[in-house]
Amino acid sequence: MRSVYFSHLVNGPFGDPALYVRIAHRGQALLFDCGDLGALTTRELLKVRALFVSHAHIDHLFGFDTLLRTFLYQDLHLEIFGPPGIAARIAGRLYGYTWNLVEGFPFVLTVREWGDGAGKVVRFRAANAFRPEPQGDRVCHGGLLLERDDLQVRGVPLEHGNITSMAYALEETLHVAIHKDALERCRYQPGPWLARFKDHLRRGAAEDLVICVPRQDAPDLTLSLGELRRQIAHTERGMKICYVTDAAPGKENCERIVALAADSHLLVIEAPFAHAELCRAQQRNHLTARLAGELARRAGAARLLVFHHSPRYQDRPDLLRLEAEAAFSGQEALASL
Ligand SMILES: [Zn+2]
Ligand SMILES: [Zn+2]
Repeated sequence: MRSVYFSHLVNGPFGDPALYVRIAHRGQALLFDCGDLGALTTRELLKVRALFVSHAHIDHLFGFDTLLRTFLYQDLHLEIFGPPGIAARIAGRLYGYTWNLVEGFPFVLTVREWGDGAGKVVRFRAANAFRPEPQGDRVCHGGLLLERDDLQVRGVPLEHGNITSMAYALEETLHVAIHKDALERCRYQPGPWLARFKDHLRRGAAEDLVICVPRQDAPDLTLSLGELRRQIAHTERGMKICYVTDAAPGKENCERIVALAADSHLLVIEAPFAHAELCRAQQRNHLTARLAGELARRAGAARLLVFHHSPRYQDRPDLLRLEAEAAFSGQEALASL
C-alpha cells in the first residue's frame, strides 16, 4: 500500500509528546498532542487542521501557544479534540492574553470534548476576543470524533490516575489507488478532479454518478463512476495509525488499547519505563515498554513506535525500544535488558 499518512514524533522518543501526521496530496496535517512545537516550521504548523489532545498535563499541551501564535492572522479554522474539561483549559490559556485589537481577524478555534454519549462543543473566535461561545453538546457515537470523506478519527478514554487520557485512532476511509499507466493510456489529464473522484469512491457514491474527465488534446469526457473506477483505480482497506499515551497499566486500559489499535498499520505508544520498574510505572499511571510491545502484538499492529521515555533512560537510549520490540515480536524479555 502506498502511504497516505507521513508521521513523525516532533521531539523524538525522549521529548515532549507531539505526533505530526501529514496527509499526502491534501496540503493538510493532523497533530496528536502538542508538547513543545518549536521544531515545526511555520509552513508545517499552518497545515494542521485538527489537534487531538490526550490530556492537559503540561508536557502534552505546552505547545498550544505556538499554534495560536501561528494561526492568529490566518483565515483558518482549527479544531481541537480532547477529554472532558479540555474546553475550559483552552479558555484559560486564551484568557491569559489581551485581545483588544483583533476584531477583524478571521481565525476560529472550535474545541470538541469527547463525552460518553454527548460531548461539549465550544467555539472561540479571534473577532470576538476569544470569548467562549458554547455550541451545545453533540453526540459522539462509538467514540467517533471526526468524520470526513477521506478519514475518520476515533477516541477512547483511558484511566491515567484520577483523570482521563484519550487515545486516538486515525483511519483512512478507503484507500483508493490510481493506476498511472491507465491514466496515461486513456490520455486523461491529471488534476483536482482525481481527488473528487477518490472522495466519491470513499463515500460510496452511486456507480452511475456522472464524472466529467478532462483529456489531453481532446474534449472532456463524461463517464459513470463505476466505469471510471474499473478503468483507472483500485480500492483496498485504508491506512490506520493509532496514538496511545499516558495510560495506567490496568486490565481495562489494556483491553481498550487492544480494541482501538486492532490491525493498525502503525501503533505509536508510550513506553516511559522498563518493565523491571513496573511498580514505578503503576505509581505514575504509565505503561512499561514491555506492555507497550505486548499490546501492539495483541492488537495485530504492523509496526510499533514507542516514545515518552523517562529521562532516567537517557544514558541507555535504546533500552526501552529494544524491550518493546522484543515483546512485540513475541520474544521473552532479553536477560541483558
Ligand atoms: Zn505525559
Ligand atoms: Zn500525563
